[in-house]
Amino acid sequence: MAAPAAASGQSGGSGGGGVYIATPKVSKVTCLRKCASRHRPRGGSLLKVVGTELAGVNALTYLGSYGNGDDLTVKVRPGSNTRLNARVPIGAVTGPISLATAAGGRSAPSRPVLILPPLPPEPNPDLSPVPGPRVNGAPRLETGTSRTKAFVDARPGVTFSYRLSGASAMSLRVELVSAADATVVKTWTPEDVPPDEVQSVSWNGRVGRDAAKPGRYSFRLTAASADGSEARSSQIGDVERDAFDLYDNIFPVRGRHDFGGAGARFGAGRAGHSHQGQDVMAACGTRMIAARGGRVKFKQYHSAAGNYIVIDGDGTEIDYVYMHLDQPSPFSEGDRVYTGQTIGAVGDTGNARGCHLHFELWSEPGWYDGGDPFDPLASLRAWDSWS
Ligand SMILES: [Zn+2]
Repeated sequence: MAAPAAASGQSGGSGGGGVYIATPKVSKVTCLRKCASRHRPRGGSLLKVVGTELAGVNALTYLGSYGNGDDLTVKVRPGSNTRLNARVPIGAVTGPISLATAAGGRSAPSRPVLILPPLPPEPNPDLSPVPGPRVNGAPRLETGTSRTKAFVDARPGVTFSYRLSGASAMSLRVELVSAADATVVKTWTPEDVPPDEVQSVSWNGRVGRDAAKPGRYSFRLTAASADGSEARSSQIGDVERDAFDLYDNIFPVRGRHDFGGAGARFGAGRAGHSHQGQDVMAACGTRMIAARGGRVKFKQYHSAAGNYIVIDGDGTEIDYVYMHLDQPSPFSEGDRVYTGQTIGAVGDTGNARGCHLHFELWSEPGWYDGGDPFDPLASLRAWDSWS
């Protein structure tokens, strides 16, 4: 963080000829739009900041909790000297805010602003006309997005559909925007733009070969007609229209379940060794899916593990291990599995007391190949919370 000019902000230089650098000051923060209440913004809200020396402010930083790791900065359009509006990015957490001017002035941190988590994205699975005014001469747009929750490497991915009518479009661009920082992570530029026909693009949660960062994303369509009139399906900063949340893993047991007692934990004592995974108790026959897609490394039967399968999590450095399946998995070694695909059902084959999934995570280079098992419970609980 840049050192504030003198606390009073009166002079930026030492001695004569110093340049005056105004130091903005925050006195009050309220929530204007998309708020839980006047004093309770959430990710996606619009804030009103009242203070002094605000005219030159061009950035607002959400300082979050201690440390810089969760700081988020948004651009601010210069407003009046005593008030400005700023959006709350998805991912901003409760904490003070600070304002910065183009000239290098910076406010002291404000009192903490309580920020609630964002609302889930608005479902828009069928085409609907885009809201807002339309530029004369620009095509009329309808858009839709197949889901509001998506998982890296799942099939099908998220599908964005659109239809243009009215003026014919000369150029078309579909952008996938990360709500965390408003960056465009992927762009599609279809060459054919037939009017009145439903077109679509799909995304599987990857950017190139890499998994995209979990978080909120939205599709944005921009179409221009021959005379240059543009139509857009959503405005910059809109984190709800054609938006969805991307997650990196899905919970593998698709039915009632619990995590058992102390004996079900990673590291619990077993005859001659310690428990290398976490047990997930569920009725025999409960559907089991791949928490993360990848290549099947092993699919075998073992007297202790019963029917088991090991999947090399694609785009991760982790092996995922599922044991005691009631039947051998339909997948074989070398097969490609996608996130969320059914890989079997909970059982009690091998040395199992009661029906359960015995689940392990192994670090690189993998299962009985130089890697180590680590406690998967925190991950399982997190996946369970959003799956
Ligand atoms: Zn176990």
